[in-house]
Amino acid sequence: SAGLSEADPDVGAAVGRELVRQQDQIELIASENIVSRAVLEAAGTVLTNKYAEGYPGRRYYGGCEFVDEAEVLAIARAKELFGCQFANVQPHSGAQANGAVMLALCKPGDTILGMSLAAGGHLTHGAAPAQSGKWFNAVQYGVRLQDGRIDFDEVAKLAKENQPKLIIAGGSAYPREIDFKAFRAIADSVGAYLMVDMAHFAGLVAAKVHPSPLPYADIVTTTTHKTLRGPRGGMILSNDEALGKKINSAVFPGLQGGPLMHIIAAKAVAFGEALRPSFVTYAERVKENAHVLGETLMKHGLDLVSGGTDTHVVLVDLRPKGLTGNIAETALERAGMTCNKNGIPFDPEKPMVTSGVRLGSPAATTRGFGAAEFEQVGEMIAEVLDGLAANREDNSAVEGAVRERVRELCARFPIYQGL
Ligand code: PLP
Repeated sequence: SAGLSEADPDVGAAVGRELVRQQDQIELIASENIVSRAVLEAAGTVLTNKYAEGYPGRRYYGGCEFVDEAEVLAIARAKELFGCQFANVQPHSGAQANGAVMLALCKPGDTILGMSLAAGGHLTHGAAPAQSGKWFNAVQYGVRLQDGRIDFDEVAKLAKENQPKLIIAGGSAYPREIDFKAFRAIADSVGAYLMVDMAHFAGLVAAKVHPSPLPYADIVTTTTHKTLRGPRGGMILSNDEALGKKINSAVFPGLQGGPLMHIIAAKAVAFGEALRPSFVTYAERVKENAHVLGETLMKHGLDLVSGGTDTHVVLVDLRPKGLTGNIAETALERAGMTCNKNGIPFDPEKPMVTSGVRLGSPAATTRGFGAAEFEQVGEMIAEVLDGLAANREDNSAVEGAVRERVRELCARFPIYQGL
């Protein structure tokens, strides 16, 4: 049968335009990455046709012997990568992984304690509009005003007062390393489970350039598509095999039906890549590049939440330039640099406006950008923002000139050639 662009020119054209967009702009969204051709290929294989409810060797369908091989590889590689006893690679996404943990460990109405969205937490950690916030008594901790760091006195106080069943550490816009040991001590003091959601920094943990939460957490969840550079998906890890059994039942049949076997195959490929020494080099560069980006922005008068970064995330406070996140995001987009507006802790602006943008180094590092290129990126961002601050009505000359430099930079570091 015909290929995509022949069989469905409309969808084919949209995919083609998205490919060019990715090739031609600098991806600075901290939660995105650029997967290898091998991961891409695995995700587009005939494994998408297969129903495989259950787990390897214990399926509810026939014909699972080969998809079993893929899932066994994914599980074994995940355990090796993170040095743990248990891995479930079936969650369709990070949200599904977190939902499965709550299904395994909590009952509706139980108290959970997680970081607030406003401070950099994720929706699935107990935010009001999410299932985690609606079905549980969700108590939320924040960060300190003075330094943007987790306020462990507040976490301990909230834990003591509310006696949560589950404490969640991890976030989507927290640029610093998290003190997992301190969380463990607080969880132990109130008899709570500790879950660490390492979705953002999992790749750094895999490469051992960031502390691992596994020695401290009862359960670790992650996405597989951020710093870990795999296909979109989720995963749950633990060193407690009894808890692992509960997790398996919560993922299937608790929350999901058939696993996405093509994605599981792609996860196996990505984990295989992450086990190679080159991935350590990559992860070191991700951190270094984020640092250089942050320093360059500060040199140009911007503030960073917490004053810097320990990871791949740079959370920029735009207030020194008198700008808001929404207009900064669209101006940067016009200049060929994609990022997202993001609330900063104690943000005076509404969520659709915000006072910040969140930037990240994983994707551009994958395409080969090093410190020199990230310095240029920081300078181009500052130029666009300074231009915008000087003339909000029309910044097109600055944005157009930067767009050309972005194009040149992207051409020097091509991706997906010949695709
Ligand atoms: N957990 C954290 C910390 C995240 O940042 C995200 C996504 O941004 C998720 C979970 C949810 O992952 P997904 O979008 O795959 O559901």
